Amino acid sequence: MEQHSRTDVYSDRYAARAAGMVPSEIRALFAMVARPEIVSLAGGAPYVSALPLDAVGRMLGDLVAGKGAEMLQYGSAQGDELLREHICEVMSLEGVQASPDDVVVTVGAQQALDLVTKIFVNPGDVVLAEAPSYVGALGTFASYQADVVHVPLDEGGLVPSALRETLASLRAQGRSVKFLYTVPTFQNPAGVTLTTARRAQILEICAEYDILIVEDNPYGLLGFDADPMRALRADDSERVIYLGSFSKTIASGLRVGWVLAPHAVRAKLVLAAESAILCPSNFSQLAVREYLATQPWREQIKDFRELYRARRDAMLDSLDQLMPDGCTWTRPAGGFFVWLTLPEGLDAKAMAPRAIADRVAYVPGTGFYADGTGHQHMRLSYCFPEPHRIREGVRRLAGVIEKEIGL
Ligand code: PMP
Repeated sequence: MEQHSRTDVYSDRYAARAAGMVPSEIRALFAMVARPEIVSLAGGAPYVSALPLDAVGRMLGDLVAGKGAEMLQYGSAQGDELLREHICEVMSLEGVQASPDDVVVTVGAQQALDLVTKIFVNPGDVVLAEAPSYVGALGTFASYQADVVHVPLDEGGLVPSALRETLASLRAQGRSVKFLYTVPTFQNPAGVTLTTARRAQILEICAEYDILIVEDNPYGLLGFDADPMRALRADDSERVIYLGSFSKTIASGLRVGWVLAPHAVRAKLVLAAESAILCPSNFSQLAVREYLATQPWREQIKDFRELYRARRDAMLDSLDQLMPDGCTWTRPAGGFFVWLTLPEGLDAKAMAPRAIADRVAYVPGTGFYADGTGHQHMRLSYCFPEPHRIREGVRRLAGVIEKEIGL
C-alpha cells in the first residue's frame, strides 16, 4: 500500500485507513486527456446528451412548481418510498422479486459500495474480486483496508473453478472472507458477461463456503442483443446484495443508485447511510421518480442501447481491421468497455504517455488490479466518443502499438 505523501505536512495525523486513499490512475489520466485533439477511449462517462433534454427540462420545471417544497427538504435515510417501488419494477426486468422495504436509495452505486464495505469489512479482511475489477470498488475496498484477493475471469466471466480453489486455499489459511464482489453483466473493465451456467455454479460455491455476494449491476439493462440476463439476486435473496444505478439508464449527474439487501442488512445499511449523509438528495430522487412515472423510460433505454451498440460496432470493426497480430480483445454484448491484451512483452502503462503524444488515450490495465499487475492490458471505452472518433482513436492506437512492436 502506498504511503502518505511526504509533501503533505498533515501526513502524520491521518488515520491508518487514509493511507489506502490514493488517486486512481484513471483520475490522473482524465486531467491529461481533456484536450480536444486527443481521442479519449479512456473515460467511462455515459452519453447523457442522448436524453431528450427539453422534455426533461419541462418535467423538472413542472415538478419544482408542484412539489418544490418537498424536493428541497430533507427526506428519509432509506430514500423515497415511491421511488423504491419504481426501483423494484426496474429490477423485475432482471427477474428480481423484491420489496421496496428492502431497498436503500444511495448516492449512486458508488455510495452503496461504500456502505456495504463499511458495515462488513474490518482491516485485513479478505474481499474477493474479479481480476480485473472496477477501479472505484478497489478504491473503496482500499479505503477500508480490505485485503483484496483476485479471482480470474475469462470471456464467460468469473471462473468458477478458480473461485473454488481460492476459497479452499483461504479457508486452509484460516482467513475471513467477507464477500465476493462481482460485476456479472457487461463487466467494467473487461466487457464480459457471466454465462447462465456459471451463475448457478457461483451461487452454489458461495453457498457451500457461506460467503455473501455483492452483485454490482449498473449495465444490466444495456445489452445489445438479447433480453436482460437474470440477476444473481433473482436466485438467492439471502446471500446476494444487489447494487443498482440510474447513472447509465438515466443520467449519472443525478447521483441516484440503490442497494437491495436481506432485511437485517438493510436495517444496518440505513443506519450507516444516516451517519454518512442523513439522507440522499430529495431533489434528485423526486426527479428520477417523476421521470420513471411520466417519461417513456423503457424506450429511452432502447435508444441508449442502439447508440452504444453502434459505438461498440465501430470499435470492434476498427479493431478487427487495424490491430496488429498478437493483440486480442473481448467482444462485449453490452455495456461500455472492451478489454484489450497486448502482445507478450508490451506494457500498456509504459506506453500510455507515447499514446497520448500520438493523441489517443486509454486506461492501462494496472488500475484494475489491487496488486498492480495487468501491464499487458488496457481498457478501451466506446460509450462517449462518436463512431468516427472511435475509428480514428483505434487507428491511432494501432499505430502506437505497431511502433512498440517495431513494425
Ligand atoms: N459500479 C460499476 C461497475 C461502475 O462501472 C460504476 C460507474 N462507473 C459504478 C459502480 C458507480 O456508479 P454510480 O455511482 O454512478 O452509480
